[in-house]
This record gives sequence, structure tokens and C-alpha cells, in this order.
Amino acid sequence: RGRAPHNGWGPAPLTEAEHTDNQGDPMGKTALITGVTGQDGSYLAELLLSKGYTVHGLVRRSSSFNTERIDHIYQDPQTENRSLVLHHADLSDGVALVNLLRDIRPDEVYNLGAQSHVRVSFDAPLYTGDVTGLGALRLLEAIRASGVDTRIYQASSSEMFGATPPPQNEHTPFHPRSPYGAAKVFAYWTTVNYREAYDMFAVNGILFNHESPRRGETFVTRKITRAVARIKAGLQDHLYLGNLDAVRDWGYAPEYVDAMWRMLQQDEPTDYVVATGVAATVREFVESSFGHAGLDWNEHVRYDPKYERPSEVDALIGDASKAQEILGWKPTVLVAELARIMVDADIRQVEDQLAGVTVRIDR
Ligand code: NDP
Ligand code: GDP
Repeated sequence: RGRAPHNGWGPAPLTEAEHTDNQGDPMGKTALITGVTGQDGSYLAELLLSKGYTVHGLVRRSSSFNTERIDHIYQDPQTENRSLVLHHADLSDGVALVNLLRDIRPDEVYNLGAQSHVRVSFDAPLYTGDVTGLGALRLLEAIRASGVDTRIYQASSSEMFGATPPPQNEHTPFHPRSPYGAAKVFAYWTTVNYREAYDMFAVNGILFNHESPRRGETFVTRKITRAVARIKAGLQDHLYLGNLDAVRDWGYAPEYVDAMWRMLQQDEPTDYVVATGVAATVREFVESSFGHAGLDWNEHVRYDPKYERPSEVDALIGDASKAQEILGWKPTVLVAELARIMVDADIRQVEDQLAGVTVRIDR
């Protein structure tokens, strides 16, 4: 078969002769990541590149730059034999997904793209359902329609457990408490169904909250550590938060993307919880973060009901024994160290900004 026409920004599509599958491909495996510009997508792209993969990333069109987290690994289209290739597409566009899969013929697909913010999902429930829920179905159906033999990872979430009390594991019933959680439940069961109906190697990673210096600025951990750095530098006085009593199981994102990869290297597809098992309240994360910077949080933190959710998830604490047993995966960074890593990174970033240094993403 000859080459199919393509749009110029993406890769020249591989012919079948050029593309061999997982078995003994001398050029290494090929992966497609949706959500490559996000926190996890950027760490996963780094991990796969370090393992010799060719990584294709799906980037959605934005009127401003949205590739800050992957700029340090970006290779411009003139580079020969690029190992990171970006494509404009969107999870709302099923035809684009089919075309992309046919062109790339990846060995592995990681579906990390989503409207991923729980609070925002109450303001944009239909959009969240479309991208976070139906988007996963579009991708699975695109794999089926294109006939590409690939493994797929679905980014499922502890938010699916919602109101069901901890500890939560793979057998815990779902009771989502937000449009985001409900959309993720839809995506979860769709993934299971494609595995059962079409014998696809499709797995759900049910990941508990995981954070890093690259976490979006409106998630609570990053909002806190960024504010700590700015308060310490005298750039702001107060931080406004909602519910401080919520309990979460916070891990370190670079370790969690390693678990994703491990799930796709197994002989059999199955679903896994990924978590630290260590619980902390939002208040405790606030205390650790302000304390690490030598600040008294009581002087700076204020309550704003705007940050409360119409229905809250009170407590998420994961039991990741299955991942430990089968994947050999174990977290090493726990919540107190995580807070220190994030505060230190945000302090460095503020110092760089004040010094007029071009801000580089914290690796
Ligand atoms: P981010 O919010 O950082 O990244 C989400 C990614 O999805 C971004 O690349 C974003 O693009 C992309 N995206 C948004 N809308 C669309 C769309 N319509 N079409 C294509 N891509 C789109 O999330 P994380 O990296 O933190 O999380 C990765 C995945 O894991 C998500 O699915 C999330 O819901 C899930 N998850 C995350 C957890 C966590 O604690 N971080 C816990 C459990 C699950 P852009 O950069 O342009 O906005
Ligand atoms: P989530 O667990 O996916 O919803 O991740 P978030 O980081 O957005 O929220 C974690 C917890 O922090 C939730 O229980 C929120 O209600 C609580 N929280 C308290 N104040 C805030 C705030 O100002 N912003 C956010 N995002 N969450 C807050």
C-alpha cells in the first residue's frame, strides 16, 4: 500500500510494510497519547520516549499556546525521524480519530484527554459528558472501525467511587458525585464492554489523585503550593479555599504514569486501582505546604463558598494491592514529600519570574 495523503503537520503515515507491530520492531513501539499537553500526558510522553517509543500526541486547537508542558521535548516538523509527533485533533471528532489511528497504527493508545476538573463539570456538564465520557467511546469505536491492532489504556478515576466509603479497590461499587465522575463511569464500562465484546486489550487504570509541579493551577494542591510561593514572595496575602475537610489520597504523577505503562505490558488486560493508601485532608495539605515555607496558614487562608461543590466526595483512600502484586508497582513519594516538592518548584518558578528569567517547566 502507498502512503495516504496527510495534512503536513503530522507524520507521513506509515505504510503497512514500514510498520511492524509489537513483536521485534527494530524501531521500537509506537504510542498515541490523547491529552499529551496535560500533566500526565507530558510525563507519560517523557517516559515512553526514554523507552525508545515513537510518541504521537493529540493536541486540540487553542487560540493560545497550550503545549507549555511538552515544549522541552517538542521536535519541530523539519526534524528527521522525529520521536515526538503532534497532531491537531479533538476527542469530540470521531472521524479525525479514525483517520489518525489509520495513519499512525500505534501499538498502544493512552486515553488521557478529558475535561478533568470536577468543579468545572458542574458548570459544563454536557461538555464534560461529551469529552470525558463519549470521547472514550469515540476512541474505542475508532480503534474498532480502523481495524488497528492496538492496546488501549483508559484514564479512569477514583472520582467514580464518589460517595462509597474508603478504602476503595477494584471491587468497590461506583457512586459518582459529579458530572465528571458519571462521565468517567460511562467511559469505564465502555472500556470493559469493548474488552468483552471485541476481545480488545483495553484496560482501566483507576487512579487516585496525583499531583506534581505540572498539576493544573486550579486543582487544590497546586492552588495551595502556588499561593504559598506567591505569599512568601510578597505577591499576594490571602488564599481562598472551599471545603478543608475533604480527604484525599495524593500521589506523585511521574510514578503514576509508570503504572499506566505497566498495565499495557501485561499478558492479560484487567483493571487496576493506583493509589498510595495514605489519607490526608485538604487542611493537612495546607498545613504542610505553608509550614514548609515557614508560613502560618491561619494568617493567610480564607473561606470562599464559591469553591464548594453541589455534591462533595468526602473521602478517597485507595487500596492498590492488586497493582503492587501484578504490576510490581509501589509509590515512593507520599503526601508530605509531595507538598514539599510542589512548594519548592513553585518557589523556584516565582523567583525566576521575579528575576525575569524565561520560565522553564519544572522537570
Ligand atoms: P489535565 O487536565 O492536566 O489534562 C487533560 C488533557 O486533556 C489536556 O491535554 C487537555 O488539553 C486534553 N483535552 C481536554 N479536552 C479535550 C478534547 N476535547 N479533546 C482532546 N483533548 C482534550 O489532566 P491530568 O493530566 O491530570 O489527567 C489525565 C487524565 O487522567 C484525565 O483524563 C483525568 O480525568 C484523569 N485522571 C486524573 C487524575 C489526577 O489526579 N490527575 C486522577 C484520575 C484520573 P489542553 O491542554 O488543551 O487543555
Ligand atoms: P478532585 O478530587 O478531583 O475534585 O481534585 P481537586 O484538587 O479539584 O479537589 C480536591 C478536594 O479539595 C475537593 O474535595 C475539593 O472540594 C477541595 N477543595 C477545597 N477548596 C478547593 C479549591 O479552592 N479548589 C479546588 N479545586 N478544590 C478545593
